[in-house]
Amino acid sequence: MVLIFVTLGILAFGIGLGFLYSYLIMYTKIFDSVKIREQQLEMPLSRAEFYKRVPLISFNLLSLFLISGVGLYFGASLFNMQWTGVGIFVLHFLAILFIDDLMFYFIHRSLHDVKFLHQKVHSIHHQASQPFPLDFIYAHPVEWLSGYAGALVGVLVINAFVPVDVYAFWLWGLFRSMHELDIHSGVRSVVSRYIPLLAGAEHHDFHHLRSKGNYSSTLILWDWVFGTTLKRKGS
Ligand SMILES: [Zn+2]
Ligand SMILES: [Zn+2]
Repeated sequence: MVLIFVTLGILAFGIGLGFLYSYLIMYTKIFDSVKIREQQLEMPLSRAEFYKRVPLISFNLLSLFLISGVGLYFGASLFNMQWTGVGIFVLHFLAILFIDDLMFYFIHRSLHDVKFLHQKVHSIHHQASQPFPLDFIYAHPVEWLSGYAGALVGVLVINAFVPVDVYAFWLWGLFRSMHELDIHSGVRSVVSRYIPLLAGAEHHDFHHLRSKGNYSSTLILWDWVFGTTLKRKGS
């Protein structure tokens, strides 16, 4: 029960923060001076556009809680609830991050490269050409469901050796939620300036603007390795 309670608590915290952050960006001027695109200041997201996205966002959030709760109930044995030391904690955190992010890259790239998937699935997420934080879950249900794949594979790979350190899993969940809010915020990232290889909001915001290239989510590395980094004019 602790596994389900804390994991859903982390999800709820991220979503609550997402609502607050989205509200502050859309309805106040607090972040205007640090927004990425000037056009966001000239053409702010209208409230009507925001309300149009609320039903799908709500449906996805509800499904997210339900499926996560049921999945954790049946997958409880995949996790070690005991603290086993900093070494294992860091190793498991990095392993899930790496595997999930690499899988995200290929799934995301397929959603663009395969015409059918792009038209029927991913185009919904790309209706947000100027995303706000909660847009990370404004997507076709098939798309955000596919987001489970990376985490699941990460957990199963670690389980080939030992059960997953639950604290590493929780930290990863918190980090992933915060990162998704950040890259969809349209606000310049602060943390990514200080962490090498971490993609900031500018990277994914440019992806939403162009609707191709810059497929990485967390580690900018994948776009470098597979040659899909979007070039800005003059660079
Ligand atoms: Zn996006
Ligand atoms: Zn995309």
